[in-house]
Amino acid sequence: MGTVPIRHVIDGAEADSLDAAVFGSVDPATREPYAEVALGSAADVDRAVTSARRAFDEGPWPRMGTAERGTILQRLADLVESHADELALADTTDMGKPIDDARGKDVPRCAQNLRFFADHARMTPAEQYPMDSGHHAYSRYEAAGVVAAIAPWNFPLMLESWKIAPALAWGNTVVLKPAEDTPASASILARLATEAGMPPGVLNVVHGFGPDSAGEALTAHPGVDRITFTGESATGRVISEAAARRLVPVSLELGGKGANVVFADADLDDAVAWSIRAIYTNAGQVCLAGSRLYVQRPVVEEFTARFVAAAEALVVGDPKQPRTQVGPLASEAHHAKVVRHLEGVEAQGGKILTGGTGDGWTVRPTVVVGVGPDAPLQRQEVFGPLVTITPFDDEAEAVRLANDTPYGLNAMLFTENLSRAHRVGAALRAGTVWVNCFFVRDLRAPFGGVGDSGVGREGGTFSREFFTEPKAVVMAI
Ligand code: NAD
Repeated sequence: MGTVPIRHVIDGAEADSLDAAVFGSVDPATREPYAEVALGSAADVDRAVTSARRAFDEGPWPRMGTAERGTILQRLADLVESHADELALADTTDMGKPIDDARGKDVPRCAQNLRFFADHARMTPAEQYPMDSGHHAYSRYEAAGVVAAIAPWNFPLMLESWKIAPALAWGNTVVLKPAEDTPASASILARLATEAGMPPGVLNVVHGFGPDSAGEALTAHPGVDRITFTGESATGRVISEAAARRLVPVSLELGGKGANVVFADADLDDAVAWSIRAIYTNAGQVCLAGSRLYVQRPVVEEFTARFVAAAEALVVGDPKQPRTQVGPLASEAHHAKVVRHLEGVEAQGGKILTGGTGDGWTVRPTVVVGVGPDAPLQRQEVFGPLVTITPFDDEAEAVRLANDTPYGLNAMLFTENLSRAHRVGAALRAGTVWVNCFFVRDLRAPFGGVGDSGVGREGGTFSREFFTEPKAVVMAI
């Protein structure tokens, strides 16, 4: 089978790299290259940033106001919905995500992100401060400039739109660098943006890798005013250093090792169903995955038996088949990493109750018990369909175990005791705590992590804070 081309989008048009360099993109289901992707260099990044700069300094976008920008973003959301099949297939082919998830969750969320931030920018009031002195002060939220957005491969379209929607709604222009494993949907989105009426240069996409490639060139470029990054914590540190050198504000959404605490008084049907989703959605390649399950001792046996049965009932296989719930891992390198974790289970004192390697790059939903708190499996982000189950005795122990991690993106807890829900929810060190649910989002709420899980928050006014320069105007009246 031949390969399809995936190009950059610069200044409103598809573009090859100046030196015509390309790299291959592999479909993890077939393990065959399916696309030839433009490989961006520093020169291509410079073209994109220059175009974004021009669109910001001279173009209509920052000047047209929130309503007019909102109309274009809403039109883009309409186009995302009408191209849902194409966009979903792009992400599924790039990284093996089950097509039902891509079509039913990620694409609608992309449209929702665009619609939400279009409305939010238009409707959010700015503060005013009538002063005792008789002066009048008020805030203005002015576009920051050119935003560099660097994205991971696990939810390509959804996470890219989470960054670019608020950046655009507040009047910035954007250069997006998608992950090298998932270039396809970003180029489609940028093409649709032009179709929706977005002026040239407002949304640019440059493909390539991180170090010594498009990613690094983008973070070092003097024309960039904001860097928003989602990816691994180690990469976040490197990007933070690059941003510090230029004193550019940076938002970091990084890795996670989510604790999922099930108390004996929980509704076990609910707890099992949500906990299964929390770890096996997207084959565990979720920053928010509930990869450390802590279950109170009186119910640990029953919970584990039910959880194992539900894990075994999941449909593993070809991600392009509508019934599939767990597809392959995104790449050969990532598959090898997760397999290394599986191979280390016994040496860490653990036992695999179900799961293990599957066909090709799939790993079956895996349940591990007997692993101590200091084992790599409990401390490192596996980013695969592997959960550890650990019993605990009381609330204090549950909180201690859950918080015993350098990460702090999110945690879940299951209980029918209202006071305990509030008490433990407050005690968990995490950016988001879900009580008796998982992955439910209000886009106005803060989203981000504590510790190694990130710096800063996005969502609603938190995104406004990052993507604008808030200004105080003080008037004598
Ligand atoms: P990654 O850090 O390897 O890559 C992310 C992006 O950064 C890619 O586009 C990559 O090309 C680029 N990059 C890498 N090195 C760079 C450098 N030196 N300079 C500039 N750009 C560079 O992460 P990944 O493997 O693509 O994604 C998985 C990780 O993302 C996991 O750790 C996961 O937890 C995390 N994640 C976090 C969130 C969140 O909201 N907190 C959401 C999704 C994923």
